Amino acid sequence: MPLRPRYTGLIDRYRDRLPVHDDTRIISLGEGNTPLIRLNNIPRIIKKSVDIYIKYEGLNPTGSFKDRGMTMAVTKAVEEGSRAIICASTGNTSASAAAYAARAGISAFVLIPEGKIALGKLAQAMIHGAVVLQIKGNFDQGMDLVKQVGKQTPITIVNSINPFRLQGQKTAAFEILEELGGAPQFHCIPVGNAGNITAHWMGYKEYHEHGIVNDLPRMVGYQASGAAPFIRGKMVDTPETVATAIRIGHPQSWDKAWSVQKESNGWFDECTDPELLAAQKMLTEHEGIFCEPASAISLAGAMKDIAAGKIPEGSKIVCTLTGHGLKDPDTAIKQSTRGVIPTAANLDAVKHTILENLK
Ligand SMILES: *Cc1c(COP(=O)(O)O)cnc(C)c1O
Repeated sequence: MPLRPRYTGLIDRYRDRLPVHDDTRIISLGEGNTPLIRLNNIPRIIKKSVDIYIKYEGLNPTGSFKDRGMTMAVTKAVEEGSRAIICASTGNTSASAAAYAARAGISAFVLIPEGKIALGKLAQAMIHGAVVLQIKGNFDQGMDLVKQVGKQTPITIVNSINPFRLQGQKTAAFEILEELGGAPQFHCIPVGNAGNITAHWMGYKEYHEHGIVNDLPRMVGYQASGAAPFIRGKMVDTPETVATAIRIGHPQSWDKAWSVQKESNGWFDECTDPELLAAQKMLTEHEGIFCEPASAISLAGAMKDIAAGKIPEGSKIVCTLTGHGLKDPDTAIKQSTRGVIPTAANLDAVKHTILENLK
């Protein structure tokens, strides 16, 4: 049996579809190529015959899909001679920027909102050596500041307004099409700044336009009820949700995402915090898949729209799980039903607890 070539990251894999040259120095950590996992138990539990696939983006090198965009953004920044990158972040962009900047040997500056960043993400930005500026404001205010810095200094912005980010992120759609042998009927995805829904649609359309596939999915974007500008039809000034990754009131890709909705004949919908937390827990307890709260909204929304008949039975659905559950250990521990059971260090006590807790 011949040995297969090693997977070296999404830029190498999709070189012919990405804006890189033969001699471009690629800054990669082996991102992409994430698992597409078919749910076995949840469709049975909700008593619906639907084919739900989870695109587990939490298995990227820094634990979120942001790495797909960051490998491209940092590769291009270095190619253009930039020595520093900057971003505003609810957490995952800063974690990813910090890691790829370390890999490239350049500086990373990250602006994070005070108090509302998940612990794992903060730890990542700090340990990779980024300069972490905690501002007394939310993501949207941080984003405004970063744009001004970008205008007045040669530092490269690596938020999703950087067009190379979306180029990298579109490869998630390529992987789904290749693995399923065509498009799902529905692609359900969390929406914050709406860069990722836009990037996926770019990827789907690209394979369709080149005749690689014949069909396209309907794109369905979900927002947390307290941070749902696409559902309110206008910007939200004080976004609030436990799903900190999508606690965004002024989405940067507003117009682009509305085009995605129209072109794909999809829609936007909202879920409450209890709904998305319930979906996170269902995934961990019944499928063994651990994602962060923001990610679970794709499944929470899908289940709601399946129940409402908007997504009919018999459909093939892909739900993107954008980030790993370990990003937000505080919420995970709060969500745990059993907690830990204090037990004496003797066999009788251990046996007693086992017998009381068998499934
Ligand atoms: C960034 C992020 C999102 C939102 O993606 P957008 O491109 O801003 O819409 C959702 N979930 C997680 C975990 C994220 O890190």
